[in-house]
This record gives sequence, structure tokens and C-alpha cells, in this order.
Amino acid sequence: MMWKVIKLGKRVAVVPNGDEQPHSDFELTCNCNPRVEGMILIHNAFDGREELEAQYGSGNRLPSSNSCVQDNSHEWVCVQ
Ligand SMILES: [Zn+2]
Repeated sequence: MMWKVIKLGKRVAVVPNGDEQPHSDFELTCNCNPRVEGMILIHNAFDGREELEAQYGSGNRLPSSNSCVQDNSHEWVCVQ
């Protein structure tokens, strides 16, 4: 269960990697009903992996409301 962090200009999207259905990475209208935290668009997994991670734990958690994520250029992006 992996999440990928995608950066486009100042916008960042967190998208499930290898999900059951494709995501529109930077679109709020994505079918997974993503949420926005600061500059980050966080998608939901169609395969329900969030629930599995909450139940069993995982090293690849979604960033929480006060955490940071590392983008493809290895810059840290922090959510306030
Ligand atoms: Zn999505």
C-alpha cells in the first residue's frame, strides 16, 4: 500500500499508487471525492486502503493535519 506525492507548480496531490481506478490527480472533481488540506489535494483510495491501514497500521500513512510530506524533488511540504 503506497501513496505517491505529485507536485505541479505550488500544488501538491497525494494519490494512492496502483489503485483500482484512475485518479484525476489535480482535480477536485476526481471520483474519489478528495479533500484539500492547505495546498495539498488528498485523494481517497477506491480499494479502501485507509481503513486497512487504520486497522492494521502501515508505514505509508496519509499525512495528518500537522505533518509533512516529501515531494518528487525531495522538498518537504508541510500542512498547517
Ligand atoms: Zn482521486
